[in-house]
Amino acid sequence: MADFKYLTIAEARQSLDQREVSSVELTQACLDRINQVEDRVKSFVTLTPDLALQQAEEADRLISSGAAGPLTGIPVQVKDVMCTQGIRTTCSSRMLENFVPVYDATAVGKLLEQGIVLLGKGNMDEFAMGSSTENSAFFPTHNPWNLERVPGGSSGGPAASVAAGEALFSLGSDTGGSIRQPASFCGVVGLKPTYGLVSRFGLVAFASSLDQIGPVTKDVADCALVLNAIAGHDPRDATSLPLDKKDYTAALGSGVEGLRLGVPEEYFVEGMEDGTRGAVEAAIEILRGMGANVKPVSLPTTKNALACYYIIAPSECSANLARYDGVKYGYSYQDADNMWEDLEKTRQHGFGPEVRRRIMLGTYALSTGYYDAYYLKAQQVRTLIREDFARVFQEVDALVAPVSPTVAFALGEKTSDPVQMYLSDVCTLPPNIAGLPSMSVPCGFDQGLPVGLQLIGPHLSEETLLRVAYAYQQETDWHLATPEL
Ligand code: GLN
Repeated sequence: MADFKYLTIAEARQSLDQREVSSVELTQACLDRINQVEDRVKSFVTLTPDLALQQAEEADRLISSGAAGPLTGIPVQVKDVMCTQGIRTTCSSRMLENFVPVYDATAVGKLLEQGIVLLGKGNMDEFAMGSSTENSAFFPTHNPWNLERVPGGSSGGPAASVAAGEALFSLGSDTGGSIRQPASFCGVVGLKPTYGLVSRFGLVAFASSLDQIGPVTKDVADCALVLNAIAGHDPRDATSLPLDKKDYTAALGSGVEGLRLGVPEEYFVEGMEDGTRGAVEAAIEILRGMGANVKPVSLPTTKNALACYYIIAPSECSANLARYDGVKYGYSYQDADNMWEDLEKTRQHGFGPEVRRRIMLGTYALSTGYYDAYYLKAQQVRTLIREDFARVFQEVDALVAPVSPTVAFALGEKTSDPVQMYLSDVCTLPPNIAGLPSMSVPCGFDQGLPVGLQLIGPHLSEETLLRVAYAYQQETDWHLATPEL
């Protein structure tokens, strides 16, 4: 039996099916690993060891009876932005510190139906607003490759837990880069699916036109397995696409021969670190060497994406977060003299500084007199960004680019400068704005820290992205590197 902590889902599946290991043993191994490293990594907001062992026993029964699915008995961490019935779902916010949902998010429910083992809930930037997980109201998560560095964000817990071998995989959410940037910083694989492919039901809303749930895994084959499990139409999410089920593992082995890949020059931004640029360029050369037709392309509106995102996302956030009024659920301040003051104090104490900043930015952008100048203008820019992508996708099948301009930065390095923090997502925001699928695959190291390669494709081109990523991974072994902890 291989070292438990670095098993992929596929390897664990084989061992489980051949009865070399039970789900209880696998789960116990994850819990032991958590005990060993969690005080340094801090990727979990809530641990559910008793439930996990109980689910593992149930999974072992399913396996014995021959009724196991691809994910039965596999231990997972779920980002704490997805509702889990009976298990608190905090969004790493004081506002929801004691909130216990009465239902499961659809994506979580789909995993549970297969007999997954839930280890606990993953730390994140409060309400998924941030790029370093330092905006968690509870504690920051540390990068397993270097504990002085951030794991990225907002899905820092999910990426760190998988990189540290605490969980076999994780579910994250991505509004502007929150799966891909932490996956890149922690040396794991992360996929943001096409908007509408995975149900958002039960995903606590940040910016509803941008949010998507996706897998964080150790390799590309696992990513396809998890996408198989969570994708699909859901009548409870009005933006869910009514599509037939696909098997995303089927296309993995098709190679890149003859595939047309575009390199968007605008993604190699000013201020990009040389080591990151070098790793990404080397990865592109490998793909070329494998038979892909690589050519430069231009997406001129990329330069407007950051400004566009930071109007649209805060605007939607200000509307979505209006529901936290201290009355319906969550934290409630009750010691003031009147209702209005209670409401004010609830929001003042319940939300951290970044969330309050976003709400104020969004409220401003939506207010009468400013709406046309900001929100409406941003929506027009959004259309231009979409058209830019549509144009290049007439010439190429997918784009290859950096995920982030730098490797994981130091804890505390960007906390006092929000714009510097926002710039970490300059290459990951455009696909969300256009609703496109995009993923991060490990493609090298700089300063001892992982670098990610970003793949972006047209709507519903997940198979192409997975195929390129898989081919690249067959040719390299960056995804096999593991941190010393
Ligand atoms: N870092 C970006 C933000 O703070 C994206 C976050 C996300 O994808 N949830 O808005």
